[in-house]
Amino acid sequence: MMREQKVESMKKDMRPRDEKKKTVVADGIERTTLSFYGYVPFENPKFFCEELFERLHSLGCLGRIYIAKEGINAQMNVPKKNWDLFDAYIKSRKELIGIPYKIAVEECDTPSFYKLTVKVKEKIVADGLSDDLFDVTNTGAYLSAKEFNEYVEDEEAVVVDMRNGYESEIGHFEGAITPEVDTFREELRIAPELLKIHKNKKIALYCTGGIRCEKASAWLKHNGFEHVRHLKGGIIDYKHQVEREGLQNHFLGKNFVFDERMGERIGNEVISYCHLCSKTKSDTHYHCKNIACHILFLGCNACIEKKNGYCSYKCMTFDKLPEGVKNYFTRNTHLNKGAQFKKHRMKAKR
Ligand SMILES: [Zn+2]
Ligand SMILES: [Zn+2]
Repeated sequence: MMREQKVESMKKDMRPRDEKKKTVVADGIERTTLSFYGYVPFENPKFFCEELFERLHSLGCLGRIYIAKEGINAQMNVPKKNWDLFDAYIKSRKELIGIPYKIAVEECDTPSFYKLTVKVKEKIVADGLSDDLFDVTNTGAYLSAKEFNEYVEDEEAVVVDMRNGYESEIGHFEGAITPEVDTFREELRIAPELLKIHKNKKIALYCTGGIRCEKASAWLKHNGFEHVRHLKGGIIDYKHQVEREGLQNHFLGKNFVFDERMGERIGNEVISYCHLCSKTKSDTHYHCKNIACHILFLGCNACIEKKNGYCSYKCMTFDKLPEGVKNYFTRNTHLNKGAQFKKHRMKAKR
């Protein structure tokens, strides 16, 4: 199996996170958050990475962009006043012509990103698959929001959430299978076995913006699933189509997003519970204020106030220790550093 590697890291802004946040919050610039991806070959990802960073940086864009030989995956924001320049630049690159933007469903009071990172990676999504073992281009056909709704209503069809458990916990399609996995690799590893009882049925896959389903649909087809289709543009574009075309919304709750907003409201209902008390409903994610912990959890207002933004009294106490002591323990105990959206999280006890 090919392991994803960070080959290149562009001009790192070494200031502490809080400082970067302060600068961006204080600048008052109105920004549009968007994402886009494309499986389009880049002959020289490193060269393009440098060019892209320079251009986006000069336009004041912030976000996280991965480039690989196989394509590009971008989650970012653009100052509204520079949108036309940004759009013109994207359209000037032959590889990116016609790449669909997915504009965020909602912006928050605080910006979606605090810095700009453009990286060369082995793959644009960490899937743990070896691409020469199966035909990655043999993807499932797309479903529009309208077609997806027809699927959801069809009793013979199976709807599968290709995202992680902590994403589907706060929002998913009605009746969807939502595997309790922490990574996309794990999802792909278990999916053929998990879905084998549905092998001859119609299967509809979905994810946040569509990128994971490109790989997942090809992988399932390779594993003998014939009737696999997937939601074009993911949950984000589904919401836009529902509003534009006046369709019924079959998505419950929030769409988890991998930026500072943490989620976008799609359906009005709250379907998950606070991880601290397991009693009150909440779909608001927090990271524990203790940097050595930084665990991702859902908190209700009462628990957040009571524990002052920490995941536990233990973390609250720990954070009061002198810096030197904290650093010592952090170095020796915090093994999941950086994996803020991955395994390091809590669950409600229900
Ligand atoms: Zn609570
Ligand atoms: Zn904690």
